[in-house]
Amino acid sequence: MSVRLLDPVLVNRIAAGEVVERPAAAVKELVENSIDAGAKSIEVFIESGGRRLIRVVDDGKGMPAEDLALAVERHATSKIPDNDLTHIDTLGFRGEALPSIGAVAKLFIQSRPHNADQGFSITVTGGNKDVVRPVALPFGTRIEITDLFFATPARLKFLKSDRTEAQTVVEIIKRLAIAHPSIRFTLSGDHLTSLSYAPEEETPSGFLRRISRVLGAEFADNSMPVAVEREGVHLNGFASIPTFHRNTSTYIYFVVNGRPVRDKLLLGAVSGAYSDVLMSGRYPSLAIAIDLAPKDVDVNVHPAKTEVRFKDPAFIRGMVVGSLKDAITRSGFRSSTTGGAKTLEAMRPDGNIQNNNVNPSSVPSQPFFSSFPSAKRSFIPPSRQAYSTSNSWQSPSRPLSGFSESEQTPVQSPSFHETSSSDLSHSPKDENYPLGAACAQLHGTYIVSQTSDGMILIDQHAAHERLVYERLKKERDENGISRQILLIPEVIELDPSEISRILDHEKELSELGLVVEAFGEGAILIREIPSQLSGTKIRSLIEDIAGALAEWNTAHPLAEKLDALLSRIACHGSVRAGRMMRPEEMNTLLREMEATPLSAQCNHGRPTYIELKLNDIEKLFGRK
Ligand code: ADP
Ligand code: MG
Repeated sequence: MSVRLLDPVLVNRIAAGEVVERPAAAVKELVENSIDAGAKSIEVFIESGGRRLIRVVDDGKGMPAEDLALAVERHATSKIPDNDLTHIDTLGFRGEALPSIGAVAKLFIQSRPHNADQGFSITVTGGNKDVVRPVALPFGTRIEITDLFFATPARLKFLKSDRTEAQTVVEIIKRLAIAHPSIRFTLSGDHLTSLSYAPEEETPSGFLRRISRVLGAEFADNSMPVAVEREGVHLNGFASIPTFHRNTSTYIYFVVNGRPVRDKLLLGAVSGAYSDVLMSGRYPSLAIAIDLAPKDVDVNVHPAKTEVRFKDPAFIRGMVVGSLKDAITRSGFRSSTTGGAKTLEAMRPDGNIQNNNVNPSSVPSQPFFSSFPSAKRSFIPPSRQAYSTSNSWQSPSRPLSGFSESEQTPVQSPSFHETSSSDLSHSPKDENYPLGAACAQLHGTYIVSQTSDGMILIDQHAAHERLVYERLKKERDENGISRQILLIPEVIELDPSEISRILDHEKELSELGLVVEAFGEGAILIREIPSQLSGTKIRSLIEDIAGALAEWNTAHPLAEKLDALLSRIACHGSVRAGRMMRPEEMNTLLREMEATPLSAQCNHGRPTYIELKLNDIEKLFGRK
């Protein structure tokens, strides 16, 4: 057979495989055309997940009769001014969508420009163009796609259930709605819950309202603003505080120059920024718009245009990581509001924890008490508490007055902790601190404190673990982690693979304050440990580190791996659950939490405290 040009309808059908691989992609193309046409309101309706019918109605600038016939031709576009691909400020530009859709479905377009007396329509069925006809229509454009893929039955087989296809359409509309807060969006049809987003102002608060409509009302209470500008690149949006996390990255929305994107580089930057405060497998929710000169980003990577290529990817990644980290640090010790709500729900007399209606996918994902692993190990027998009498939880930079090692009583008589709050020596002004005045300790594990308008439950181990970690990081960044030489070096027996793993990382470990040495066969010698850890059980520390090194993932940047290791080390320097604390110790812990960035969550993203407002407690008892 000789080489010949492809039949245009065939070309369009081939292109359709790329541009509109499923109904949601067709919806995306139509809605993007409406946005490009300056629409202020876009209504979408689908049937059978979009397979039977997709209808998009907009109030944009419309198309005159002569453009209508052209618009459905291949490579016909009004969107590349001066034939310059580097200056695209519209969502479309390839001129492929309408002809591709027309080649694989029945496409019916009606349009009326604002200055026209009447509208016109055109129909394309499986690639066959009908004539342009006059039609009665309000201003704007109305496009219907019926029986998508009827002309390419093979493609139909790849579609999922109507429900799944409908959900994908929902997701596309959400993405576009976040990218364009000032446009009204509605979506209705079968197999889905209708969406209706009112237009918002183009201000940060308007943006936050739109995001919260899409992500759920709780987002507003649990998010922090992100806004930076560097070298002409603008980054604006909102990101959830670390304790408000989910088990999927679906709620991470990026918008680049008005275009919703799912980009590996950006998703990687988010996990980098949160790596310190979230355990792996948990993701924040966020919506961030990045605006930069069109010449600094290539959007023409893929026909579906969900990936982008930045001219300077390292710069963009650095900006995203930096601004998110800043925001996380600035958010300080805020903890997720859902913790308190869930606790109240669990405490309600008729409360059925399973059926609480508080955002099910955010944490704590379990009823309050069981969400703390340490709850299970409360009441550690006194013999095992001995090692926790070290001063390791004490900040060297802020010695605690009236609290020295010799004064500490490892096991307090329980009656001391059962005394009422008035017996404790907190001054009334402590209540004015955000985390209030410590009143009591429960099960040797939780601190109860009173604030001016409520109460707070603090997980002492989780909170202290974060404080130790932050201190260690600070030391490392300033003068290096301060180390303590062990009077008698400790010999730890381990199996050979663990030993070689530890010795392979001797240098990294010494930078983290841990000096180890080979010691014959089957053992290593520990000479120095971080000062913060004095009094800790070295054996369990080393075993834990051997475990962490076994999980050492070569794919992660070194800095992140070292942080993960340091966070394990910090865990060993923390006051254990089950250790009794004196009131001054508890209050010092609270004050230090207030002064420490990131202290609202432990190193694994669990909350360190939960707040209950008096108002809510009163409701609980039917006082209000
Ligand atoms: P592209 O968007 O890449 O230009 P399309 O095939 O999606 O290609 O659309 C072709 C042309 O049809 C557009 O350039 C635009 O001029 C016109 N058009 C499509 N949809 C609309 C609409 N809803 N309102 C006004 N004009 C539209
Ligand atoms: Mg288009």
